[in-house]
Amino acid sequence: MSVDCVFCKIINRELDADIVYEDEKAIAFKDINPAAPVHILVVPRKHIPSLKDLEKSDEALIGHLHTIANEIAKAFKLDNKGYRIVINCGADAGQIVFHLHLHLLGGRPLLQTIAKGRGV
Ligand code: AMP
Ligand code: ZN
Repeated sequence: MSVDCVFCKIINRELDADIVYEDEKAIAFKDINPAAPVHILVVPRKHIPSLKDLEKSDEALIGHLHTIANEIAKAFKLDNKGYRIVINCGADAGQIVFHLHLHLLGGRPLLQTIAKGRGV
């Protein structure tokens, strides 16, 4: 938990979000500024600032986040057409919220780019 972290505030229900999934380890909610028809953030409850801060003991957690993303993709009927998972790590990748999260993007053909950006 980090006091000034927007995602910790969502996890602690101090801030509203459109939550689509939650369990004891993670929460998923709609991105406030969607870059695709389906744009969901999959977030661990544990405050890990960035991918580079992952510890060996977080390996199961990061796997869990991907499994959740797959389940949500299926619930949003993206599993046949496909979807993209993005993790931005650090300033050059455009990370703006320093609480680790996966972007789940889909619902339209996505550009063949490795960047997230608005033009995904
Ligand atoms: P990143 O660039 O990977 O750090 O992405 C952070 C994402 O969080 C952006 O796509 C924002 O639109 C999204 N975001 C920021 N604040 C909120 C919020 N309060 N609720 C939902 N999504 C948010
Ligand atoms: Zn946090």
